[in-house]
Amino acid sequence: MQKYKVQEVYKKLRGDHNVIHWDKLVWNRLSVPKHRVISWLVMHGRLRTNDVLVKIGVVDSNQCRLCEIGVESHDHLFFQCEYSIKCLEMVKSWLKVSAVHNTYQRQMNYIQRSRRSGVQKKFMAAVFSGLVYHIWWVRNEAIWNQVVCRPEAVFKRLKQIIQQRIKMVHSKKLSIRDQRWINSKLEIV
Ligand SMILES: [Zn+2]
Repeated sequence: MQKYKVQEVYKKLRGDHNVIHWDKLVWNRLSVPKHRVISWLVMHGRLRTNDVLVKIGVVDSNQCRLCEIGVESHDHLFFQCEYSIKCLEMVKSWLKVSAVHNTYQRQMNYIQRSRRSGVQKKFMAAVFSGLVYHIWWVRNEAIWNQVVCRPEAVFKRLKQIIQQRIKMVHSKKLSIRDQRWINSKLEIV
């Protein structure tokens, strides 16, 4: 009986943890609004990826258009596709994080559970929301316009957009440590 109760409590806490913290990170104001929407859809597995479209007969192939090897699904695009992995590596190096995760949900959980300050977590969540938005955008360009731009170009664009957004909305009342950290991410390299 006792064991059962403990498991129930754990499940409840774990469930609440996932839902509440994901929402806070996804809808945080440092994120670009259109990035938040795509990010929320990815979190809930609601994009119309090819694996789903094949099943309902909308398209003939479930192949990923970015690597042309894997089956396009949420987990493949975010972030198991070799195209996404290249983008992820550049983000990792920019943010100077030691680890990145192979699904979007795991990545957001990792950010939430890290020991970083609130503003650093929000900044990082904004970057990853921007990354899923851009990967989805590249995927749509590949399908509709038969163009796949290089991961380096996607990363450059993502970085510029995030830097512009942060300059526009971040609070001026930050600790010296956070201010220094933010400034280091705003440097144009
Ligand atoms: Zn792929």
